[in-house]
Amino acid sequence: VRGGGVPLATFLPGDGIGPEIAKAVRQVFEVASVPLQWEEHHFSPEVIDPSTSSMVTREALDSLLRNGLGLKGPMATPIGKGHRSLNLTLRKELGLYANIRPCFSIPGYKTKYDNVNLVTIRENTEGEYSGLEHEVVPGVVESLKVITEKASRRVAEYAFRYAKENNRSKVTAVHKANIMKKADGLFLECCRAIAEKNPEIEFEEKIIDNCCMQLVKDPSQFDVLVMPNLYGDIVSDLCAGLVGGLGVTPSLNVGDGGIALAEAVHGTAPDIAGKDLANPTALLLSSVMLLRHMELGTHADKIEKALLGTIAEGKYLTGDLGGKSTTRDFTNAVCSKI
Ligand code: NAD
Repeated sequence: VRGGGVPLATFLPGDGIGPEIAKAVRQVFEVASVPLQWEEHHFSPEVIDPSTSSMVTREALDSLLRNGLGLKGPMATPIGKGHRSLNLTLRKELGLYANIRPCFSIPGYKTKYDNVNLVTIRENTEGEYSGLEHEVVPGVVESLKVITEKASRRVAEYAFRYAKENNRSKVTAVHKANIMKKADGLFLECCRAIAEKNPEIEFEEKIIDNCCMQLVKDPSQFDVLVMPNLYGDIVSDLCAGLVGGLGVTPSLNVGDGGIALAEAVHGTAPDIAGKDLANPTALLLSSVMLLRHMELGTHADKIEKALLGTIAEGKYLTGDLGGKSTTRDFTNAVCSKI
């Protein structure tokens, strides 16, 4: 907290539906009297900041580093070369080593399952995403998967800490160590070592392919899942699908020193942008994760309860949830419940 007053968080509304759902979050936070001030920054796909080689401006990055807290809307990703991916830039520059995505069945929003309540924790910095690829000879490409003890232990420690702090009882390490004996073997060894230090949390190991099959068959058997980068990318989307898709799935990236950046995982939805039709649920649930991270649990609970209550009631639902409400009416309904 700068100056000992109200905490500051960086706010990046983003593109497309970003500003509309960002406005909803601001309104809800105001009505819920959340003790937090926003510092708003923007990125633009047309402007590449030479000091970051990406669409992230130096000011936005500095603001995030200074505040250690941020909320990000979706960004349109220009296709082509000459710049670094936005998410990669943020992860690298801010040292965001883990991505946390809770997936739970939303009462009143019917999907194939009504008993999902799990969290995926994805290693965010290495694995197949090391960016080390080259053509050995024409027609032969090598792409390096890097797994380190440091990053594997760090994310495993986070998973067990998260389980303890959130009253969860089991951590599952997801891997393919039967084939990638050294790389995934090291990841698994690190998870085992951390599990030994946390005997109060049950630990299990699942090979990725079997894990996917089990997730689709009976997701209720899972609690916290921790995994290397690429598996996390895929499995977290699979889990989002179990509860109704990316429109209702929040996420939080965490890094050293408690830095945290919450983000909705959906895109800019260009087909409905500017039409007051977007569902702000994913960004609101992401902001709830940020509040819990800040130990503002009472405010987080209040907002989450009003949001889930509005969905359960079914009177004001946006189009993606099968209703006819506008973003504004849905947000007002959440606010009136608060
Ligand atoms: P998208 O998530 O934007 O849209 C997919 C479908 O889901 C669309 O029909 C859209 O209307 C709907 N949808 C998404 N979010 C919604 C919401 N909150 N409420 C109601 N409906 C919603 O995916 P896309 O079309 O593949 O991507 C569009 C743009 O977004 C691209 O430029 C892409 O690069 C970018 N993108 C950014 C992020 C990010 O910044 N994290 C993530 C994914 C895609």
